[in-house]
Amino acid sequence: MQWDIVIGLEIHVQLATKTKIFSGSSTAYGAEPNTQANAVDLAMPGTLPVPNEQAFRYAVMFGLAVNAEIERRSVFERKNYFYPDLPKGYQTTQLERPIVGPGYVDIDLANGETKRVRIHHAHLEEDAGKSLHEDFHGMTGIDLNRAGTPLIEVVTEPDMTNADEAVAFAKKLHGIVTSLGICDGDMSQGSMRFDVNISLKPKGSDTLGTRTETKNLNSFRFMEQAIAHEVERQMDILEDGGAIVQETRLYNGDRDESRSMRTKEEANDYRYFPCPDLLPVEIDDAFIDEAHNSLPELPDARKVRFKEQYGLNDYDAGLLAGDSQLAAFFEAAADRGKDAKLASNWVQGEFSARLNAEEKPVADSPISGEQLGDLVVRIADNTISSAGAKKVFEALWTGENDSVDAIIDAKGLKQVSDTGELEKMVDEVLASMPDQVAQYQQESDPKKQKKMLGGFMGPLMKASKGQGNPKLFNEILVKKLGG
Ligand code: ADP
Ligand code: MG
Repeated sequence: MQWDIVIGLEIHVQLATKTKIFSGSSTAYGAEPNTQANAVDLAMPGTLPVPNEQAFRYAVMFGLAVNAEIERRSVFERKNYFYPDLPKGYQTTQLERPIVGPGYVDIDLANGETKRVRIHHAHLEEDAGKSLHEDFHGMTGIDLNRAGTPLIEVVTEPDMTNADEAVAFAKKLHGIVTSLGICDGDMSQGSMRFDVNISLKPKGSDTLGTRTETKNLNSFRFMEQAIAHEVERQMDILEDGGAIVQETRLYNGDRDESRSMRTKEEANDYRYFPCPDLLPVEIDDAFIDEAHNSLPELPDARKVRFKEQYGLNDYDAGLLAGDSQLAAFFEAAADRGKDAKLASNWVQGEFSARLNAEEKPVADSPISGEQLGDLVVRIADNTISSAGAKKVFEALWTGENDSVDAIIDAKGLKQVSDTGELEKMVDEVLASMPDQVAQYQQESDPKKQKKMLGGFMGPLMKASKGQGNPKLFNEILVKKLGG
């Protein structure tokens, strides 16, 4: 049996306001537990919430960035449920009249095509507190600092058909909200959390299957793994003749396991009703115009600019433009380094690999885009080989404060590019390897000849104490051997 995979996402985006959505208490991350939730956040009797204008501005900016309609009149509802991290007994959210209506985001697929993912709506709501399960010896700790932090929840249509598309969408959304500056994008701190709805249907069928929702995935990698895991699980059940139960599941990325959390609740289980403490919020044209005028450059526009300004191909431009910090880093490196293609290779190669290995965001990079640009200059003008460049990069990364040039000097990484000197070395090495020279000259297959050149490189690099310019060595070798 062949199956189609259907995926829809719900994404919680923490808005980067200084204060809570309905109170003046701080949203800063990492404070002592229970020091940043005030009486309003806990809905103590006699308190009244006051909507945070900045949260609305951010929500409107988001709506405009995803080509959505903005609701002029949005209403808050109470979603009633009991949970230890929600002592007020309800979450203030939007149901009937969310602030952001239908929109869409275009994502780039691996095959070079573009796909449109529709956004059903996005609504404003407050976050709950956090349950802490570690360090409490069989009990659970509750930290209410996060209670009342403004979120937008973005709900997509079930438009994605595999994990790659879902991850591409998630990354695109991450790029949009961080470019807008409405979210810090720090997934390790829970600033963006993904719920993945997944169902299967017989290949080509028009009817959607029963879905499950896997909640609270906080990295792209876990999201990819959770989807693979859930698709596999559902396939096993369906192929054994079973039925999928509509339920909410939790995925444990460290163990690649999932378990049921609760069977799916219906909206009416929550007894939604309009919050009597909050008036509907009316948004006028001036507010929307102002938000529109404050929109910064977004990933799609930046991608087009990178292709024009730096001559990057579609793939490189899309990747670098997708993340605002990475984009700024690349621009600094390319502007300083004067060789955009080389800068792009280093940003995507060594630099990104290093960030990933240390699980660091671009902002925490110990080296600046300008420094990488200086390195690019010295690679491009042949002062150092790419092996030497890696050593300089390493030194910069581990905090050597010197300039790129000073590091090159101190480590003796300057390549010998004096052709006269290099020619002398080539002559000597060729004279000491007559058999190999004869073999090379008898070979008619240029591919094999190219391989044979490598045999001379080792001795040459040794003769030059590792400092001969390999590109020049190669050119001289071909000339001398061919002639
Ligand atoms: P509910 O009203 O139960 O919350 P929604 O229709 O609002 O359900 O959908 C919630 C999320 O689930 C959306 O992201 C949507 O795209 C996704 N979704 C809905 N039906 C399916 C399905 N059959 N398979 C996969 N995802 C789905
Ligand atoms: Mg829903």
